[in-house]
Amino acid sequence: MRLDIISIFPEYFAPLDVSLMGKARERGILDVRVHQLREWAHDVHRTVDDTPYGGGPGMVMKPEVWGEALDTVIGDGSPRMIVPTPSGRPFTQELAQELAAEPWLLFACGRYEGIDSRVMAEYGARLRVDEVSIGDYVLAGGEVAVLVMAEAIGRLLPGVLGNAHSAVDDSFAPGAMRNLLEGPVYTKPPVWRGHEVPAVLLSGHHGKVARWRRDQALRRTLANRPELAAALDPETLDKHDRRLLEELAFRLPPEDMAH
Ligand code: SAM
Repeated sequence: MRLDIISIFPEYFAPLDVSLMGKARERGILDVRVHQLREWAHDVHRTVDDTPYGGGPGMVMKPEVWGEALDTVIGDGSPRMIVPTPSGRPFTQELAQELAAEPWLLFACGRYEGIDSRVMAEYGARLRVDEVSIGDYVLAGGEVAVLVMAEAIGRLLPGVLGNAHSAVDDSFAPGAMRNLLEGPVYTKPPVWRGHEVPAVLLSGHHGKVARWRRDQALRRTLANRPELAAALDPETLDKHDRRLLEELAFRLPPEDMAH
């Protein structure tokens, strides 16, 4: 996958040299190209922003600089363009999966009050452009959001994770476990500072381990993300799940109780 990033702070992307992403780049799975937006600004100060039309605080990123930068990076190609913004569609595991199937992604990092909207209109007419938010909070710039997305997407590329199954069990992974968070995990030693690993995990009984993990996943989902628990597919719940949900006084939506 080719991944272009345009930003006024290219140094933010140093972490893409290390760990999984670094290895993916070394192995040629990921071709990351980071561009300094100011290279396409022509005044002595290399200005990339200006005051907003209509007034108000803050500055807005200028369309001409972005236009030149994007034209150069895109050339005759057609990457899928992602613009991080708190007002965008939510970034989810599902979107990460979708983006991981693209051959070429181009991220445009905003700063200040964001990028002049005509840039998204201009490129949206010839490319697939998504404005994407990584959560309901406001960062100072798009760089950290792009790091989050790049890592979530990069670890899904074939050959990046050592054990292909580790992505299958993840929270939010598609399939029957969708909407179920992953439960707690343990490693050796069996007792640490008086805290014991749950005995069932040492039992070697695969069926009991699987049941325990599922119970823990349900408990955690209910405690931390009740809205996800409410969206659990009733078809995927067995009688043990239902008993546990009852015990925890969790009510499935009424129409689902019929199953
Ligand atoms: N005034 C903007 C608003 O309220 O929508 C916020 C601009 S923010 C200070 C500057 C830049 O940070 C945005 O253009 C975007 O690139 C990035 N950013 C901030 N929060 C983000 C989020 N939750 N998800 C994705 N990008 C974000």
